[in-house]
Amino acid sequence: MIPVLDTKRQYEKIGKEIEKEVIEVLASGAYILGKHNKALQTEFADYVGTKYSVGLNSGTDALHLALRALNIGKGDEVITTPFTFVATASAIGLAGATPVFVDINPDTFNIDANKIEAAITSKTKAIIPVHLYGQSAEMDKIMDIAKRHNLRVVEDCCQAIGAEFKGQKVGSSGDFGCFSFYPTKNLGGMGDGGMITCNDEKLYNRILALRNHGGAIRYYHDELGVNSRLDEIQAAIIRVKLNYIDTWNKQRRENAYRYNELFSKYPEIITPKEADNTYAVYHQYTIRIQHRNEVHKLLQENGIGAMIYYPVPLHLQKLHKELGYKEGDFPCTEKDTQLVLSLPMFPEITEEEQKTVVNTVVKCLNMTKQAV
Ligand SMILES: *Cc1c(COP(=O)(O)O)cnc(C)c1O
Repeated sequence: MIPVLDTKRQYEKIGKEIEKEVIEVLASGAYILGKHNKALQTEFADYVGTKYSVGLNSGTDALHLALRALNIGKGDEVITTPFTFVATASAIGLAGATPVFVDINPDTFNIDANKIEAAITSKTKAIIPVHLYGQSAEMDKIMDIAKRHNLRVVEDCCQAIGAEFKGQKVGSSGDFGCFSFYPTKNLGGMGDGGMITCNDEKLYNRILALRNHGGAIRYYHDELGVNSRLDEIQAAIIRVKLNYIDTWNKQRRENAYRYNELFSKYPEIITPKEADNTYAVYHQYTIRIQHRNEVHKLLQENGIGAMIYYPVPLHLQKLHKELGYKEGDFPCTEKDTQLVLSLPMFPEITEEEQKTVVNTVVKCLNMTKQAV
């Protein structure tokens, strides 16, 4: 059995280091907003290349609070991609605003920057590009559009910590960068957690207040806030792991190139493309393949973990029924939702395992073709 992700292998390597830090937190009695949170906020901002970062409960909260801090809400529109995890769009809904979707570039799975301007209206307030599967969206074009139309940019970096566009890390060019420490992400905690980055001191202070019941001073509340603090145990764990993230991302890249090489003999299997100017960190290794659902089922029967991210695009979700989108609105997205299949990808996967994955994918594809 080769799982799509094996978090235990990482623990076997650095578990001792993590245990030491966690036990120290347990013994300290300081479990919320302690020294690890403070130190991580500095280290994380340094890593991403921003002035500030704030620890939060989740990546979803980071997205939601980013919009709140930018005063985006009722009556406002926010442009994003329909080819992403639901949280990108639910953050818009939670803020009271309306998501407006724009189709993807099928080569990168990211929002097609060339189609954004056609979706801008007088109500548009922001763009949320998602760096899907660990590859940066076209940040130069997106920032240029935002500047010309006076829009804010909130980067969804939940799958892309360490990814770069033109040498600049994701999360450092928009007004905010939103990160998740959900255990399956490239920088995963051992529970839920998230982080937001920014360069503007006012926005930074606003996030500090919003995450802590809407007030900078305890028991004085200026606005409606939430409880969204990164707990001290997660902060301590993430601090240990942050030291390894560049190594792990490099290993993911090497593994991706090995898959590319192994698949190169099979042109009907479309391997992921790394776009110009990007440094992709392969949160997922996602192929496109005919008879995808049948292949997926056969892979599972043959002991290979694989996942479909995401089977239903967001504009066709029941959640967004009242927005009035219909099938055919975003052909590139709809086509790719039928074809994408994410294969086992994590830093510790072995060459032997990758060969088994590739051989099994090819075998399963041939089986489905014969059955058709
Ligand atoms: C994981 C993820 C989120 C949400 O992060 P959580 O920490 O689970 O709330 C948002 N957007 C994308 C693209 C994600 O992959």
